[in-house]
Amino acid sequence: MLGCVIHGQGDLRVEELPVPEPAPGQALVAVRYGGVCGSDLHYWRHGGVGDFRLREPMLLGHEVVGTVVSYGAGARGPAPGAAVAVHPATPCGVCPECSGGRRNVCRDTRYLGSAARFPHVQGGFAGQVAVPAEQLRALPDGLGPRRAALAEPLSVALHAVRRAGDVTGRHVLVTGAGPIGCLVVAAARAAGAARVTVTDLLPRALEYASAVGAGTVVRADDPGDAGWPDEVDVAVEASGVAAGLGTCLRLVRRGGTVVQLGMLPPGQVPFAGNLVVSREIELRGAFRFDTEFDGALRLLAAEPAFDALISAVVPVRDAESAFTLAADRTRSCKVLLNFDA
Ligand SMILES: [Zn+2]
Ligand SMILES: [Zn+2]
Repeated sequence: MLGCVIHGQGDLRVEELPVPEPAPGQALVAVRYGGVCGSDLHYWRHGGVGDFRLREPMLLGHEVVGTVVSYGAGARGPAPGAAVAVHPATPCGVCPECSGGRRNVCRDTRYLGSAARFPHVQGGFAGQVAVPAEQLRALPDGLGPRRAALAEPLSVALHAVRRAGDVTGRHVLVTGAGPIGCLVVAAARAAGAARVTVTDLLPRALEYASAVGAGTVVRADDPGDAGWPDEVDVAVEASGVAAGLGTCLRLVRRGGTVVQLGMLPPGQVPFAGNLVVSREIELRGAFRFDTEFDGALRLLAAEPAFDALISAVVPVRDAESAFTLAADRTRSCKVLLNFDA
């Protein structure tokens, strides 16, 4: 089987790998689709993501959908042949965060295809992967595996909106119309936001945002754009650049909430901190997700418009061109790798 392994900055290799054996408690999954995520691109282009650096070769990929092949000893789940999405996180279950209901910030979690711990947790961009059986979720009726590959990033978006508090009837600003920003738009609409405004530098990215429910789109580099709101109730920063955070802090109303979702550059990032003070802005982080995964699958099953965000499906043997395409936001939104033999 083929797998997509990152060896270091700029060194992505498609390799022939042995099929893993499911250990006790594990399921073996034949992967159909794997979504290329911003973090996969960061490992490829920069050798790390946020403050996590690559220290050994790692199978990439954590947005994985496939079919059940078999189970290891003592493991149960959807029947072999069933279509499943893989929840990428295995929190430890015993740390203070897990005990307190914040498993997404578990201090000892294992996340598919992540260099946050060492040895790194190998990912799911391979023909077959062995994962803990309790991480499998059967696809709901009406949801095919292709659209289901959006479940992980949509879960991230749902969690960010949850962190913003009740958005019912609110005007929500989203800075950044990459795949995550677009999914935040959809998540905010699903949560009852009255209006969603999105900013980005690229017209193509803003078209994707419109396709999933953005009422107003704004060119971030055009101060004269008629779409700029005077004020919003909630802002979600999904671009991962300091300028986006600046925009959110400047436009959110006094006492409003700003959620930082985009992973900012490593180290120190300057921002207008006094706005947080003088306007009593609630500045909150959002990281990954936990139980939102099941809600994401239901939302995907109900809403065909999500298909508009999948701009290409590329065979795994052409992984490097898939990554190049995914990194070029003038040409793509979400790019999927296909692992069918
Ligand atoms: Zn992802
Ligand atoms: Zn934990």
